[in-house]
Amino acid sequence: MSSHLEKQPLKPLPLLPLRDIVLFPHEVRPLYVGREKSIAALKEAMARKGADGKALLLLSAQKKAKTNDPTPDEVFHFATLGQVVQLLPLPDGTVKVLVEGLSRARLIGFLPTEPYFECDYEPVSEPPSTPAEFEALMRAVQATFKAFVELNKRIAPELMQQVALIEDPSRLADTIGVHLALKLPDKQALLETESPAKRLEKLYELMQGEIEILKVEKKIRSRVKKQMERTQKEYYLNEQMQAIQRELGDKGDDGKTEIQELEDKLKAKKLSKEAHARMKKEIKKLKMMGPMSAEATVVRNYIDWVLSLPWGEETKDKIDVEEAQKVLDDDHFGLEKVKERILEYLAVQQLVGKLKGPILCFVGPPGVGKTSLGRSVAKSLGRKFVRMSLGGVRDEAEIRGHRRTYIGAMPGKIIQSLKKAESANPVILLDEIDKMSSDFRGDPSAALLEVLDPEQNSTFNDHYLDLDFDLSKVMFICTANSMHSIPQPLQDRMEIIRIAGYTEDEKLSIARKYLIPKQQEANGLKDIKVRLTTLGVKTIIRRYTRESGVRSLERELASVFRKVAREVIAGDKGPIVVDRRRTKKLLGVPRVPKDKNENVDQIGMVNGLAWTEFGGEVLHTEATTMPGKGKLIVTGVLRDVMKESAQAAVTWVRTRARRLGIEDAFFEKNDMHIHFPGAFPKDGPSAGVTMATALVSAITRIPVRRDVAMTGEITLRGRVTPIGGLKEKCLAAHRLGITTVIIPRENKKDLRDVPKNIRSVLRIVMVDTVDEVLREALKLEHPEDFFRTSPEVSPTPS
Ligand code: ADP
Repeated sequence: MSSHLEKQPLKPLPLLPLRDIVLFPHEVRPLYVGREKSIAALKEAMARKGADGKALLLLSAQKKAKTNDPTPDEVFHFATLGQVVQLLPLPDGTVKVLVEGLSRARLIGFLPTEPYFECDYEPVSEPPSTPAEFEALMRAVQATFKAFVELNKRIAPELMQQVALIEDPSRLADTIGVHLALKLPDKQALLETESPAKRLEKLYELMQGEIEILKVEKKIRSRVKKQMERTQKEYYLNEQMQAIQRELGDKGDDGKTEIQELEDKLKAKKLSKEAHARMKKEIKKLKMMGPMSAEATVVRNYIDWVLSLPWGEETKDKIDVEEAQKVLDDDHFGLEKVKERILEYLAVQQLVGKLKGPILCFVGPPGVGKTSLGRSVAKSLGRKFVRMSLGGVRDEAEIRGHRRTYIGAMPGKIIQSLKKAESANPVILLDEIDKMSSDFRGDPSAALLEVLDPEQNSTFNDHYLDLDFDLSKVMFICTANSMHSIPQPLQDRMEIIRIAGYTEDEKLSIARKYLIPKQQEANGLKDIKVRLTTLGVKTIIRRYTRESGVRSLERELASVFRKVAREVIAGDKGPIVVDRRRTKKLLGVPRVPKDKNENVDQIGMVNGLAWTEFGGEVLHTEATTMPGKGKLIVTGVLRDVMKESAQAAVTWVRTRARRLGIEDAFFEKNDMHIHFPGAFPKDGPSAGVTMATALVSAITRIPVRRDVAMTGEITLRGRVTPIGGLKEKCLAAHRLGITTVIIPRENKKDLRDVPKNIRSVLRIVMVDTVDEVLREALKLEHPEDFFRTSPEVSPTPS
């Protein structure tokens, strides 16, 4: 086309306004035309068909699709020059027409013709271009279009091949533009972009946008689909499950459904009003749920728990003191005072007519029969017995349960014990109440306080059940190894009954009367004659156990009988005698070294008497001095109270130095060291006299008598004050063959607890002051002139 021609307006052509359509060059598109004006335009175009057979016309989009009879201003003036390929009048008066876009054209004037628009136009010339320039751009566009087609299900994939063959950039842009589902303004803008390069760029941008949208759409679609598939599957399976269960599985042996069973159970139980209402609600909830769903399991669990509790189901008490005495005597040897206290307690209950009042608490070392006493109390009352261990409990929720909102929540130990007991008035033994600890998860002792409080425990509320349960009929008995770690408020609710350890003779009797028959039977040797000699049992006590109670003794006896049982199986028909030699053969190398005391009197070495949770111990205390600056070193596994007590001992020795014949300068030039061997932790002030004696001996170089043991707290002024655990300490001293025991005079009243046979062999010296201790314990040649210097200071009055 020459430039001359370009400037010359061409012959005007009829205009066909298009609703919501932009016709691109090279596009062939069917149109249904109904408006009279448009049909007239088409007819005119056909009528003017040229010699080349082309029925040319102009096609331009309306600015608004709704406009029925657009004015020249309401159509875009950038149009497409096209031709009618085919025209087909339809019976209803409208026309179906196939048009083909030929090139871009700009409308430059509207001629006053009726009944259609006739316009002057000029073709839009595209800058000539070679594919080489557009190589990169075209490739990018083609690749993007490929991606687009892959995502867009509405475009036939064959189109892709067609597009790949197009070499003309302008044509490529227009072909793709036709197939993009763009909004009219975007399409029009594409049409109006004359430069093919710019048009390709714009297309590229539009496609990228479309691709993003398509990707998101695809993601959403697949997610929705998956979700739908899953719910449909679950629904289907659940329905099927229900149907199957309805057919067979749902019914129990007696032909009832699970729900019916629960309902029957509920009817049979005497639940509290609150609990009954709650159960009805929960069962109803369960009915509505899919039986295999996770929620149903939770609900069913809860219902099972509540229905398994002994609501109002009580055993009948038989409070009969004589009967109780018989049971206690049958099960336990000795323990006279303890049994008496228990019987007194029961007598009061008998008079009052119900069990109320303080809670019994047995305190003593392991293996002395605390648990089995509790069991006997239950037996004598005809009540069920459960043991609930509190050792290591540190979370309130262990007592009271977790709320049901927690996954895997369970009721606390109290409710679990009641379920185990199967009665609402059992004896519950709270074992090792002193081994409870508290931390950030809450204080279990606070929960326990509520459990033990008769004012509050009729409405005990477990977090899991979230229902009040009446604990007021339960009899609680506690056990502990030591008192001092029981929280004070708990102690206030308890009646403490102390059980000290057993002497060797007592252990022997317990073994003979209770443990040996029990173990013989337990190991299937009831009908075989097995005789354990006294020396045999004593060997077990002395060389294989080291305890205040009889737990290890029982274990070792069990071991003896197990081994004997093997021999019986191997052919030994008895009678079997287990003496000392046989014991050692059966049990192997003795575990406990022979208890022996040092056999020479030593300087700075004192036998102290200590009390631990495992009973009494003899504690060898050593002291020594060495050149230094007056420092005190205390070593051993010690707690604070013991260290302070050591300090007090040193202070006392220093204030008394002159009278003890020690020069003042000694403490400036020497260090002192006190040591407590042994790996178990030691605490308490009762080693005061021991340390003072050891120090004085070490400094004055006077030996300490080896057959003396001592216990007592001291004050700075040298008074000896009382201590605890006297019985256990005396037992330990006796065990080690000590003959003299020095104790505070104020402990005189506790001597009654020490068994007579031990009191008769021990020489027990009661003292008020450390001076008396020294006089008794140090190996003095002339005790009367021990305080030889400083006679001007009067001796402490005693
Ligand atoms: P604790 O609870 O004090 O640690 P246990 O009650 O478990 O001790 O007692 C350990 C074993 O020793 C039990 O088999 C118990 O029957 C037995 N036992 C303890 N003291 C006696 C006793 N005085 N008479 C008979 N058996 C006893």
